[in-house]
Amino acid sequence: MTKWVLKGLRTGIVTTAYPGRDETAGGVSPGRPAGGLPFDAGSSIDVERCPTRALIRDGQCLRVDYRRCVHCFRCAPGREGSTQWQDGYEWAARLNDRRYEDLSPGGVFRRSLHIRVVDAGACGACLSEIEQLNKPYYNIHRLGFFLTPTPREADVLLVAGPVTDHMRMALKKAYEAMPTPKRVVAVGACALCGGVFGPSFISGGGASDIVPVDVAVPGCPPPPLALIHGLLATVGRKPSASWPSTALESGGKENV
Ligand code: SF4
Repeated sequence: MTKWVLKGLRTGIVTTAYPGRDETAGGVSPGRPAGGLPFDAGSSIDVERCPTRALIRDGQCLRVDYRRCVHCFRCAPGREGSTQWQDGYEWAARLNDRRYEDLSPGGVFRRSLHIRVVDAGACGACLSEIEQLNKPYYNIHRLGFFLTPTPREADVLLVAGPVTDHMRMALKKAYEAMPTPKRVVAVGACALCGGVFGPSFISGGGASDIVPVDVAVPGCPPPPLALIHGLLATVGRKPSASWPSTALESGGKENV
C-alpha cells in the first residue's frame, strides 16, 4: 500500500487536463483528413482510392464526409495523393440544436450525467475506446459522467455499431426505457451511416434508423477525447463541431 502511495506521489497527476486545457500529448488522436482545400491532381488520386466515398470533389474544392471516413489512412500524408491531415479531436456535432434549449447553466443536464452504452453490432473498436473513458488517463468521473448498466437510470444512450437486425429491438427498448429528457449519441462511422457493414442483409444504416440521434461522433473508431467532446457537447459544456447543414437536417445520414 505504502509503495503504491509513494509511487503515486512520485508520478504525479497523469490524467488529461482536457477540457480545462487542450491535450497536446502525442498519440491521443490519429487526426483526420482536412476538407475545404483546393482540389488538385493528387486529390483525384485520393478520391479514387477512398474505399468509402468519404472524399468528395465539390467544384474546385475537396470535401470530406466525416461520417463515412473509416480512418484507413489511404489518403494520409506520405502517400501518392495530396490530402492534408489536421490534428485535433473535437469532432462531435450536435445534429439538432432545437433540442438544446435546456442546456443553460441551470438546465436539466447541469448535474451528473449517466450514460448507457449499447453495442448495436460494433466490431469492438469503438467499444474499446469507450472503455478507456473509465481508465485513469481519461477518467470521466472527474467531469460528473458515469457509465450505468441500466437504461432506466441513463440520461444518454451511447450507441456503437450499424445496428444489426438482432439489436434493432433491443436498442429501441433501451431508448424507450430511459427517463426523459434523454439524448442519443451515435459513436463511429457504423452508428452514423452503417460504415463498412451496412446497410446490408444483416444490418441497418446506423442508429438514426431506430432512435433519434442528437450528437454524432465521427471516427473509426473515434479516440476517447472525441467521445469526451461528444458528451460535453451533449450537455452544452463545449460547442459543437460544425457540419454541413444538409447532414444536420437529415440526422447525419444524408450525403453531403
Ligand atoms: S482515411 Fe478516410 S477519407 Fe481517407 S481514404 Fe480512408 S476512408 Fe477515405
